[in-house]
Amino acid sequence: MYPAEFEYFAPRTVDEAIDLLARHGEDAKILAGGQSLLPMMKLRIAGPKYLVDVNRIDGLGGLRREGDRLVIGALCRHADVAASALVREHLPIMMDAARLTADVQVRNRGTVAGSLAHADPAGDWPAALLALETTVHIAGRGGARAVPLQEFIVDAYTTQLAAAEMVVAVSIAIPSRPSGGAYVKFEKRAGDFAVASLGVQLGLDGDRCRRVAVSLGALGPTAIRARAAEDALERQAPTTDRLDEAARLVREAAQPFADTRGSVEYKRHLAGVLFRRAFAAALDRARGRQVDIIHL
Ligand SMILES: Cc1cc2nc3c(=O)[nH]c(=O)nc-3n(C[C@H](O)[C@H](O)[C@H](O)COP(=O)(O)OP(=O)(O)OC[C@H]3O[C@@H](n4cnc5c(N)ncnc54)[C@H](O)[C@@H]3O)c2cc1C
Repeated sequence: MYPAEFEYFAPRTVDEAIDLLARHGEDAKILAGGQSLLPMMKLRIAGPKYLVDVNRIDGLGGLRREGDRLVIGALCRHADVAASALVREHLPIMMDAARLTADVQVRNRGTVAGSLAHADPAGDWPAALLALETTVHIAGRGGARAVPLQEFIVDAYTTQLAAAEMVVAVSIAIPSRPSGGAYVKFEKRAGDFAVASLGVQLGLDGDRCRRVAVSLGALGPTAIRARAAEDALERQAPTTDRLDEAARLVREAAQPFADTRGSVEYKRHLAGVLFRRAFAAALDRARGRQVDIIHL
């Protein structure tokens, strides 16, 4: 399979990339890791006439700590996150998401920013990062702007990026301790997209939950926060009864659609099961225990 013909550009600066995007409008697409765009071009689902390859722009790679935030450059690959000691120490939920995304080859090329810009309803990064305080940093002709992740993705495969804008970084608040998070995913085959996935990030105050965030992936047109379940647990001790009630509220928050991966009922059931697993792992981590999340 070959994509339709296109013109290729490799700008050296963000400004140059923005100029190219502005000049070619809707006919131009940014190329980052190419792990979503190129398959779509080969399948002729996407047919951009101009490709703006941002891989040669300096300063967009890697991840670093800036004060109380983790900053991920637009060219930071899934594999960079999986290998980061900073992430392992402060945001293990992101380690889970990086490890559970696709396979080694895709993880070595695909970017976190590209995943958010692509906004696949079953994408792992939109789901995992929605459980955190995540901001998307955007450059455009009119200057820079920063948008909370929950506003950035507006629908399936749709973000609020304008044609002449690009994501330059993603930043995440580093949670204060004691806190823990976990992201779990149910997939038909290891390395596949999620049938359903779920992230939990919580803070502890003694035996009680201080802050609880629950995010659902592949269970609606976009990743979703299960706010009622969060409210049921906040400032409460996570007893069996409360967790049962929270799991019920998570199932209620899910908006799954039936497809080849499963029925609505099946996916809704999975949401509750994954919530229990993610919550248990997040709580263990908040209490200082080492937990490894594996492909389910
Ligand atoms: C075999 C296979 C399995 C996969 N499995 C999974 C999986 O299990 N879970 C999962 O989440 N994903 C999976 N993916 C997708 C993968 O994670 C992609 O890497 C990711 O969705 C997109 O990142 P990218 O850098 O490759 O983006 P690209 O493919 O380069 O671009 C994707 C889209 O985002 C836009 N874009 C990219 N970067 C920017 C930017 N900085 N600013 C603005 N727009 C931008 C592009 O123009 C394009 O529209 C899989 C892909 C393959 C090929």
